[in-house]
Amino acid sequence: MNSIYFNEEHNMLRDQLRRFVDNEIKPHGDDWEREGKISREMLKKMGKLGYFGLRFPEKYGGSNMDVFAWIILAEELSRSTYGGVSVTCMVHAAMSSPHLVYAGTEEQIRKYLPPIMAGEKICAIAVTEPSAGSDVGGIRTRAVRDGDEWVLNGSKMYITNGYYGDIYFVAAKTDPDAKGSRGVSMFIVERDTPGFNIGRKLEKFGIHCSDTAELFFEDCRVPVENMLGEENKGFYAVMANFQNERMSIGAMATSEAMTALELTIEHIGQREAFGSPLMDKQGIRQRLAMSHAKLVAAQQLLYHAAWLDSQGHDCVQEVSMVKAHCAEVTQEVMYNCQQFHGGMGYIRDLPIERMVRDARLHTIGGGATEVMLEEVAKRW
Ligand SMILES: Cc1cc2nc3c(=O)[nH]c(=O)nc-3n(C[C@H](O)[C@H](O)[C@H](O)COP(=O)(O)OP(=O)(O)OC[C@H]3O[C@@H](n4cnc5c(N)ncnc54)[C@H](O)[C@@H]3O)c2cc1C
Repeated sequence: MNSIYFNEEHNMLRDQLRRFVDNEIKPHGDDWEREGKISREMLKKMGKLGYFGLRFPEKYGGSNMDVFAWIILAEELSRSTYGGVSVTCMVHAAMSSPHLVYAGTEEQIRKYLPPIMAGEKICAIAVTEPSAGSDVGGIRTRAVRDGDEWVLNGSKMYITNGYYGDIYFVAAKTDPDAKGSRGVSMFIVERDTPGFNIGRKLEKFGIHCSDTAELFFEDCRVPVENMLGEENKGFYAVMANFQNERMSIGAMATSEAMTALELTIEHIGQREAFGSPLMDKQGIRQRLAMSHAKLVAAQQLLYHAAWLDSQGHDCVQEVSMVKAHCAEVTQEVMYNCQQFHGGMGYIRDLPIERMVRDARLHTIGGGATEVMLEEVAKRW
């Protein structure tokens, strides 16, 4: 890609990923959608190729790359047309495991990171609850210290990688008297911990190959060593990684929309109506050209925010704009793409129908558009 933001190392990663997606993901996507999960073998292959350790320090076996590596990962996986693949992998690689690396002790990192980077153990971030999503400070899951253990009680909702996952980074209230988002701590909970129960695998509108679950903690005991980061400061760790999460979602959304646009441009070049290809209709052509312009602008906002982040600037406002703007522009573009596919766009034979459904998540998951806009306005 010709851009001031991407260097040769980035471009090599992109080329390698694009081949991987064409050869290893696209041929299996339909099966995974039907089965409601991605094969573990594929996740292990990705681990072997180093895709789950792109930003982690070399001393742990990572590649120590910058934030643009995650953007490339999100963009190229999204070009597969299977939103569930990118959500599964990005939640594992960029939204969950960074909590371990950025807040964990040396011992925790050495214990849990190798199988995570190898794709042998898949991880999840469990913050949302049935009664607290946008309002993270409202979580009710409690952790109470009992000797050398913490005892967790409560439940989580809509957790990606929740059904087939292995390692869960769980937010729980450790100081019930603390107001709002204060008094929250993070815990590492392994799948087979007694008292930790995985509930329903939730049926969804889209991203069918990504598993989403509810989780229950009933006197679930974890050793004190499993607290991740400082006691009562867990929310700040969650917040810090929100930046990565929001940029990843911006990258997934715009890349899905750009891929849909390419498919639509190809379609209108072939499909004829009223004696000529749809491409000859100025109204269609111009609407797609405007979609193209809006998408490029959204991507540039994403890259600019990522650059600010990579330079260590405070960019919460810009990253919140990225999440809101990229997700909303994507809805508009997807609508146009489906519209100009006509009846075919509504039928499951073509990827476009799935892509429209998958992309709908982006204005809701990882912080709804309205919540992002509040983050923008708060900083005026
Ligand atoms: C498929 C999927 C996967 C997910 N994966 C995870 C995961 O891995 N881990 C995790 O912890 N969570 C996950 N989530 C949860 C997700 O982040 C939340 O659903 C999201 O933050 C919205 O929270 P809510 O559903 O409780 O909506 P609510 O908080 O009930 O809000 C409903 C709607 O009200 C509007 N709204 C809310 N607050 C305001 C406001 N202040 N001003 C104006 N409008 C507002 C927004 O439009 C919002 O969509 C996932 C959700 C889905 C659907």
